[in-house]
Amino acid sequence: MNIILLGAPGAGKGTQASKIAQKYNVLHISTGDIFRANIKGGTEIGKLAKSYIDAGKLVPDEVTCDIVEDRLQKDDVKGGYMLDGFPRNIFQAERLDKFAQIDLCLNIEVDEKLLMDRICGRRVCSCGQSYHVSTLGGATACAKCGGALYRRADDNPETVKARLDTYNSQTAPLIGYYKAQGKLKCVKSGEGSPDEVFAQIEEILDKQ
Ligand code: ADP
Ligand code: ZN
Repeated sequence: MNIILLGAPGAGKGTQASKIAQKYNVLHISTGDIFRANIKGGTEIGKLAKSYIDAGKLVPDEVTCDIVEDRLQKDDVKGGYMLDGFPRNIFQAERLDKFAQIDLCLNIEVDEKLLMDRICGRRVCSCGQSYHVSTLGGATACAKCGGALYRRADDNPETVKARLDTYNSQTAPLIGYYKAQGKLKCVKSGEGSPDEVFAQIEEILDKQ
């Protein structure tokens, strides 16, 4: 099963992606994670991506599409994969259709008013786990692996505003794109806990 995870920044794609990967044994591929690893490693792609990411803009399509196309050539995707953060506009979706067979697009819907607080209060660990300050009770280490928690460089109010604008103008049209293909399934992520959102996802995936 090959899945696309769609949703605004802060909708909880990363959180749900780890749960889905664990239960359904599909590989989690996050373009955001790939870019952050490249920035950390000081690669050419990292240097290019950083300026766009810091501005809340999309990294150019050619670079991004090539990374995903390459990634999907590897053998480990054969048992199924989940794309988190790709595609992010219609151009990328059309390119993806040329080299991949997507079964399902899961759209995580969330009230836009909640997003700013969710993202600015987010703390992440290098193991992939993320938290919200309101539930950390002052803890500064990851409950899963003990690693130090930190705030992502682009999780600041100014960049978040730009990311939300980018989402609304470029990414939201993908909802119609996958609906037209008959592949869209929506789940609601309101005030509900991650487990409640995951229960909706299980209901959809168990029927596949
Ligand atoms: P979020 O969904 O919370 O905004 P991500 O980790 O998915 O975070 O992405 C962080 C940043 O990486 C984006 O704001 C963008 O600059 C860049 N990026 C990630 N995926 C793509 C993509 N498919 N196309 C272009 N840029 C991307
Ligand atoms: Zn951790």
